[in-house]
Amino acid sequence: MTRPVIELTGVTKTYGAGETAVHALAGVDLVVEPGDYVAIMGVSGSGKSTLMNIVGCLDVGTSGQYLLDGIDVRRVAESRLAVVRNRKLGFVFQSFNLVARTSALRNVELPLAYAGVSRGERRERAAAALTRVGLADRLEHEPAELSGGQQQRVALARAIVTRPSLLLADEPTGALDSHSTAEVLAQFDELAVEGRTVLVITHEHDVARHAKRVVRMADGMIVADERQAPLDAPPPLLSARAVPA
Ligand code: ADP
Ligand code: MG
Repeated sequence: MTRPVIELTGVTKTYGAGETAVHALAGVDLVVEPGDYVAIMGVSGSGKSTLMNIVGCLDVGTSGQYLLDGIDVRRVAESRLAVVRNRKLGFVFQSFNLVARTSALRNVELPLAYAGVSRGERRERAAAALTRVGLADRLEHEPAELSGGQQQRVALARAIVTRPSLLLADEPTGALDSHSTAEVLAQFDELAVEGRTVLVITHEHDVARHAKRVVRMADGMIVADERQAPLDAPPPLLSARAVPA
């Protein structure tokens, strides 16, 4: 049996205390196996970002257990956590979070620099990641010289250049027009086809439609968890009729 990438058991998160306490997560159980492509949906305030922050080791739950690739992250020292994040996780945010006045190539090299990869290999891998997202001709461009869709593709290249166990994206298309959204979603689809594990937070049905599995949250709880047919599969009735008699 393969080990899950994510295993959350009874995870809660409470902000504040007493009368004003906010129960952002009210007991979440979630298992994600390698190669799954999961969309987390839910209205604003349902706890999606809180969940992503915990899964991404940017925050810890108030109670419950989280295993990332089998590692109990609560037992990992703060100093080691940055290493775990760097090795195992790739992040994509709504607001791109690129380093300003720094070339696309340098931006994508950064996580490799933290990982201690040599300069030559860093450049080679960063250029390959940018080529993969269709930006081979934009290596020396700075974020301000790129469109929103291109900036998000740089962010995606930065997220995958370390070959993480898990790609996490919080509303990755929230700031993009429909054309750029389609470009970024095509990249996620390709990663999923390659068997990467992808967790995308979104409130857009069109985005969630690309995932293999949709998890719905409400009031800090998972209220639905369903597999869906691949996007390019023909409707069942049509395919039934296409079978020769
Ligand atoms: P979503 O991403 O689904 O919009 P969030 O996870 O951001 O939801 O928030 C869940 C709940 O927790 C909301 O009620 C929000 O106001 C609250 N919350 C989130 N972050 C904090 C914080 N740092 N301090 C206090 N309350 C917070
Ligand atoms: Mg959010």
